Amino acid sequence: MTQFPKLLAPLDLGFTTLKNRVLMGSMHTNLEEAGDWNRVAEFYATRARADVALMVTGGMAPNREGGVFPGAAGLFTAEDIARHRMVTDRVHDGGGKIAMQILHAGRYAYGPECVSASALKSPISPFPPRALDEAGIEKQIADIATAAVRAREAGYDGVEIMGSEGYFLNQFLVTHTNRRDDRWGGSYENRMRLPVEVVARVRDAVGPDFILIYRLSMIDLIPNGSTHEEVVQLALAVEAAGATILNTGIGWHEARVPTIATSVPRAAFAWVTQKLMGKVNIPIITSNRINTPEVAEQVLADGCADMVSMARPFLADPEFVSKAASGRSAQIAPCIACNQACLDHTFSGKLSSCLVNPRACHETELRVTPASPVKSVAVVGAGPAGLSAALTAAERGHRVTLFDRATEIGGQLNMAKQVPGKEEFHGLVTWYETMVAKWGVTLRLGREVAAEDLTGFDEVIVATGVVPRDPGIPGQDGPNVLSYIEVLRGKAPVGARVAVVGAGGIGFDVAEFLVQEGESPTVNLPEWLREWGVTDPAISRSGLAPEGPQPEAPARAVTLLQRKAEKPGKRLGKSTGWIHRAALQMKDVRMIAGVNYEGIDAAGLHISYGAARERPELIACDTVVLCAGQLPERSLADALQARGVVCHVIGGADVAAELDAKRAIDQGTRLAASL
Ligand code: NAP
Ligand code: SF4
Repeated sequence: MTQFPKLLAPLDLGFTTLKNRVLMGSMHTNLEEAGDWNRVAEFYATRARADVALMVTGGMAPNREGGVFPGAAGLFTAEDIARHRMVTDRVHDGGGKIAMQILHAGRYAYGPECVSASALKSPISPFPPRALDEAGIEKQIADIATAAVRAREAGYDGVEIMGSEGYFLNQFLVTHTNRRDDRWGGSYENRMRLPVEVVARVRDAVGPDFILIYRLSMIDLIPNGSTHEEVVQLALAVEAAGATILNTGIGWHEARVPTIATSVPRAAFAWVTQKLMGKVNIPIITSNRINTPEVAEQVLADGCADMVSMARPFLADPEFVSKAASGRSAQIAPCIACNQACLDHTFSGKLSSCLVNPRACHETELRVTPASPVKSVAVVGAGPAGLSAALTAAERGHRVTLFDRATEIGGQLNMAKQVPGKEEFHGLVTWYETMVAKWGVTLRLGREVAAEDLTGFDEVIVATGVVPRDPGIPGQDGPNVLSYIEVLRGKAPVGARVAVVGAGGIGFDVAEFLVQEGESPTVNLPEWLREWGVTDPAISRSGLAPEGPQPEAPARAVTLLQRKAEKPGKRLGKSTGWIHRAALQMKDVRMIAGVNYEGIDAAGLHISYGAARERPELIACDTVVLCAGQLPERSLADALQARGVVCHVIGGADVAAELDAKRAIDQGTRLAASL
């Protein structure tokens, strides 16, 4: 008997059957734009072979004006269709099904030709859209229907029509973006005419035995969005127009509520989908922050949906479904919802991958093959770099010994997991423990390793990490000064007023740690919804609470400082930096840039501003926490080199600047794949 009976139950769609309730949701990986279609095909086929029931591609543009950016991929020519045929053939050979997402970006299109219901610029794009006339609207409908027909020609099992997240069809639905007074605007019947017409025309064009998923925005989270009543009305109309399945969209891209970041509670929006259950007769999919089979099963058992969509978890582990089905769910590499290698890459025009799994989107290039000859490998340092190297080497068949002076594995991940909103790091460390046992890595913990202990190995990998940078501030040896390590490890009491020196990733983490006391809202959904001002869209239009965000009072008064004159947090993740800044602003954290640190005494931290060291100011506080970056810990590497032992230095021990777990894991994996 499986542990996941609901998740693994087939779903009969009448003309076809899905083998389980798992949809791999649409992700824009930039693979299609890179033009290597063998690589695109392998990305999807790898997941199809591991039993995901249905996959949705990244968004394909129906025409030039609707592409997310100029040159966005779409099915425009016979060659395009032939290329997509490679993908669908390979997926079908792997036993899977795949639908192509048709994404018309409307005013979110990052180009001067963008179009929308009204000429209202979005806050997240510099390009004002052109308001479409009647003929222009007809062209968009026809182009979307043509894209669906081409998808069918290319061998897809269906299409997903993107009607949520604030894209084109969504823009017609709400008065926030639709100010028309013709038959496409005004009353709700008029505003929903376009999405309903699109579904009807697509169904007409593709025939009855083709999956048509409509992604419907169930909670807009923007001013003047849809009410729940309108959502139900649209769902019924879309069903009548010929949709096979409804998928859930949560929040517009311009919404100021996080919807998929790691600090969003797991399955935080399943209740929104549940509100539609029983109101239509076609299956409904829920989504957002569902990242384990246990959570997915619970969501289905609670009657929140008929199917579950997960996207990023399939970057972290392509074998999510097959591992769940074979009693190996503990071995599923967890998506920690960091966005660091997926969305942040997409937004900067880079190929997506995954922090936890650097092989994602690199399936054809980063291959982990059986080792020959088998070697004995020593890895020193059980942080992300060392763990990845050790696991990859062991998976290949090498005999691996992993050393760390700490008594537990995980390195800095063990500090990250203490930060409110970063609870997913617990699961990541647990997964590493599982995999260390699975691949038979020998652990040597709790003892400092010296160069002379490392004789007799064929390969030595040094992943000893970093040491905190000494900022050299006069008075920093005082009793009121702590390092971030002492704070995050809970080793020292912190006063009620705190100055944090350094506003990098760790400075932000420390500030979030210090302003929160008691249970983190990330593990308390009602509290999290209150904190971000989210309510039932049946109570308040769009799901925005009339009273706005209601955060708990901060546990401490925190000032976060940096020397650079730029906006603090500017270098945090593209898709998540605004959330960290907003979270701290809600807790009244004062953020100051462009300072000089003049000294620390019992009264607090003395600063001045600018090159002329003017406007001296005392940041009165009880505790100063140093988060001034890090330097490589290379003493072991140096000692080995002095003895003539050749070693590989990876992770923070190699380069500490801008170190993050993404680079560490990637470097460790790639090194071990080559040994
Ligand atoms: P960091 O991001 O490089 O930030 C170091 C901070 O210290 C900066 O604010 C820097 O600002 C300041 N600083 C540098 N030299 C200084 C000096 N001599 N005296 C005083 N201040 C100094 O490093 P981090 O915060 O230690 O984080 C390390 C890495 O961990 C990050 O790069 C990040 O990738 C990763 N991380 C990421 C996240 C995340 O949310 N994605 C969270 C935690 C950690 P000024 O030079 O302007 O003063
Ligand atoms: Fe998940 Fe982070 Fe990997 Fe993206 S990079 S798939 S968010 S773990």
